[in-house]
Amino acid sequence: MADLDVVVVGAGFAGIYAAHAFRSAGLSVRVFEAGSGIGGTWFWNCYPGARCDVESKDYSYSFSPELEQEWSWSERYPAQPEVLRYLHHVAGKFGLWPLIQLNTRVTAAQWDAARSEWSVTTDDGAARTARFCVMAVGCLSAYQVPSLPGLETFGGPWYHTSRWPADGVDFTGKRVGLIGTGSTGIQVAPEIAAAAAHLYVFQRTANFAVPNRNRAVDPEWERAFKADYRSYRQRAQESFLGVPITGTGRPALAEPPAEIQRTLMARWQSGGGMPFLGAYTDVLVDRAANDIVAEFMRDRIRETVADPSVAELLCPRAYPVGAKRLCQSDDYFAMFNLPNVTLVDIRSAPISSVYAGGLRTADSVYELDALVFATGFDAISGALNRIDVRGVGGVPLTEKWAGGPRSYLGVAAAGFPNMFIVTGPGSPSVFSNMVLSIEQHVEWIRDCVVYLGSHGYSTAQAKPSAEDAWMAHVTEVAYSTLFPLADSWYVGANIPGKPRVFTPYLGGVGPYRARCDEVAAAGYEGFVLD
Ligand SMILES: Cc1cc2nc3c(=O)[nH]c(=O)nc-3n(C[C@H](O)[C@H](O)[C@H](O)COP(=O)(O)OP(=O)(O)OC[C@H]3O[C@@H](n4cnc5c(N)ncnc54)[C@H](O)[C@@H]3O)c2cc1C
Repeated sequence: MADLDVVVVGAGFAGIYAAHAFRSAGLSVRVFEAGSGIGGTWFWNCYPGARCDVESKDYSYSFSPELEQEWSWSERYPAQPEVLRYLHHVAGKFGLWPLIQLNTRVTAAQWDAARSEWSVTTDDGAARTARFCVMAVGCLSAYQVPSLPGLETFGGPWYHTSRWPADGVDFTGKRVGLIGTGSTGIQVAPEIAAAAAHLYVFQRTANFAVPNRNRAVDPEWERAFKADYRSYRQRAQESFLGVPITGTGRPALAEPPAEIQRTLMARWQSGGGMPFLGAYTDVLVDRAANDIVAEFMRDRIRETVADPSVAELLCPRAYPVGAKRLCQSDDYFAMFNLPNVTLVDIRSAPISSVYAGGLRTADSVYELDALVFATGFDAISGALNRIDVRGVGGVPLTEKWAGGPRSYLGVAAAGFPNMFIVTGPGSPSVFSNMVLSIEQHVEWIRDCVVYLGSHGYSTAQAKPSAEDAWMAHVTEVAYSTLFPLADSWYVGANIPGKPRVFTPYLGGVGPYRARCDEVAAAGYEGFVLD
């Protein structure tokens, strides 16, 4: 008999909720977390400026109405310490600490067909068996440092934003180089600029950013909003992105140009990426509509940045707006008006090497005291591929995924019975309000496990045909949009050698949930139950 019903790997939003959900269903569960604290993303990414870009009213658990009512967020877009405090509150309130083992990395998980159980090995040398293995390892947890020649010779400290020292970094009087201008780079840059003697922002790709218009949560508004939280959550579950936003419901190309400008400006003024991109129905599927929105955004950069040549360099042109994760910031572009900030174009003159005193590009030398990498993650499949997962016949998951990650519904992989993935490849995952998607996945997995027990089954395994059909659908939906046109981490383009496969499901959170529910209602259609 297995030691446990369920092993959960990872203690971020997903692992924490999984611990609660499985225990509440009467199952024995243990969560292994590599970090020295819970929180996942919100534990590791403690760089200055780290902040949600989905509003706090949405980016929070909905499973407990009591939790929902008792917790008050201070800001529209909370900063990292507050999200981490929230997760600590949840773990305490629901008594989850005893279920979580910190400082423990899962190194291997092997399916034992004879015993119908997983054997899970951790880096302390221990091995546990479990009937089910739930991978809650995070879409954005395997961080990525580019291999720059000479980095090991650099005389100063260097940091990756996802492994930021918990007690902070003092950049006062320092010349700092920042590499990476995606969501994180855009958040951290103004904070570094405020302290450093000089900040050099090394930009390979200019990125689009909308303002947050972040503000304190008004208690009056909060009271009124919370009175209707349940029906709001319901609408979120049925929505496209996991956030009920109101678009015009019309294509931009059918709208008079002046009206488009008025609509976009109103949304720009109220802040937030989802309402802005969701204004019109054709922005993410029609290049002409997309170009109108992109030009609107470039105009905002031009009116913010005083030096026209810097402004032009900051204007994104390499991809359709929205096809890479849309960044959000209230102060990134204005930062380039500061005398201690320099934008360096490494598209035209790439970084050639790092040396003890700084960094060389194809046409210049930059003397630096510290380097900061905001270079993101081996997204979606990276954390799973770093575990030696072996399914039926000892086949490694990395072998199955050699041509790119594949799954059925983003939660299960053929050849890997009783292994479930939270927000895996082929689920809405990073293209949604992730807390809502995480809750949906965990509840669906819990229900599946309970169903197996109550119907006398011990294993569930995705059929290869169901997986093939689902991946074909994921690809078809993706290629009906503008998303594949960008060299983004959505397609693995940030990782040298990673197969270019578009894995997030773009069919919408509501339709995805409906499909998962249909599969369950049909007795887990697409799975072999034994
Ligand atoms: C800076 C930043 C900001 C973000 N902002 C938003 C936002 O505003 N809205 C949104 O929807 N999403 C956002 N995200 C995405 C975010 O990752 C998810 O919203 C969510 O926090 C993911 O939770 P998770 O539990 O699935 O994964 P994670 O939070 O990544 O947790 C996974 C955990 O698994 C652990 N782990 C991995 N491998 C192993 C192993 N082998 N053994 C043991 N432990 C392991 C990791 O250490 C980690 O703690 C953001 C991501 C980043 C990086």
